[in-house]
Amino acid sequence: MRNIIQIAVDGPAGSGKSTIAKKLAEKLDMLYIDTGAMYRALTYKIISMGIDIGDDNAVTQAAKSSQILLEKGKVYIDGEDVGEKIRSTEVDAWVSRVAEIPQVREIMVGIQREMAMSQNVVMDGRDIGTNVLPGARYKFFLTASIEERALRRYRDKKASGAAENYETVKKEILRRDEIDSTREIDPLRKAEDAVVIDTTGKTIDEVLEQILMRLGDGVDVL
Ligand code: C5P
Repeated sequence: MRNIIQIAVDGPAGSGKSTIAKKLAEKLDMLYIDTGAMYRALTYKIISMGIDIGDDNAVTQAAKSSQILLEKGKVYIDGEDVGEKIRSTEVDAWVSRVAEIPQVREIMVGIQREMAMSQNVVMDGRDIGTNVLPGARYKFFLTASIEERALRRYRDKKASGAAENYETVKKEILRRDEIDSTREIDPLRKAEDAVVIDTTGKTIDEVLEQILMRLGDGVDVL
């Protein structure tokens, strides 16, 4: 069997993990898998269909009957390119509720593991190093101060035209972190063997540099 390289990048909302993981995958010519986008796509579908998010069975059924595809930087659910729609305030508000349902996680984790079996991947999320790919060769856990995380999200939202203020964004991030890190199944947690990188005050290139140094000669950089 070919020697597959798996790189896990976990961390809370706004820690910079998606931006960093995507760039890292580009540099290393590996597949980038944004697992948060999968939970978001499902949440978007559930909201659009008017399914009661409190009804675990209905949500699980929707997850079972959905086709989620990550391809060339795009996210599809049942063939629909859901792009920026999965970054809406409404999806932000509900995604952690959908993601704490054990049967939903089982389905998502199954898809994620399958994608990482046959190709080199950089996968970002909350439980990649601890649960999805516990045997990943490299694991990183990104953090940043709550102020900086909120500011990053606030700027993203503003750039996409959303009218939210900084304090609301900050509260929303704290609320999502709380649900993600206290849920019973696979909570947001640093894997014991993960390298912690505090991205506060650092540029994207500085964080990438730190990661590439850790990878050393183990991988080829383009
Ligand atoms: O990474 P992102 O902020 O887009 O993730 C959205 C949500 O999806 C998280 O707040 C979390 O509830 C859920 N998630 C998860 N496990 C992952 C990735 C994301 O539970 N591996």
